[in-house]
Amino acid sequence: MEHLNETEIQELRDMLESEGYSLEQELTERGKKDAAGEWTGASIPEQGEESDPNDVADNIEELAVNVAVVEELEQRQRDIVDALEKIDEGTYGICEEGNEEIPIERLRANPAARTCIAHA
Ligand SMILES: [Zn+2]
Repeated sequence: MEHLNETEIQELRDMLESEGYSLEQELTERGKKDAAGEWTGASIPEQGEESDPNDVADNIEELAVNVAVVEELEQRQRDIVDALEKIDEGTYGICEEGNEEIPIERLRANPAARTCIAHA
């Protein structure tokens, strides 16, 4: 990542860390960690015997949305964690497909980008 200077790397690291933090917040709201430490959609609240069937349907629908959102958030979180690791290893900003340097403009737009635009 010789195409990035220290100031730029610091700037991108800050972006990654703050996005990682808000993702963590959103995951906490939307989902819960299972026993294996993996995020899952928040489970349906316990239903009383007299619960309204409409509420049950709403809850199931909400769970489906949460599961999809949580999966997406988790994927994004993985990209960010990997990007931060790559900064530490000195391999950040290099396209995973073709090993080209990813331009700073692209990294500013998406600091967790894994590939250059040609390989996106
Ligand atoms: Zn590439």
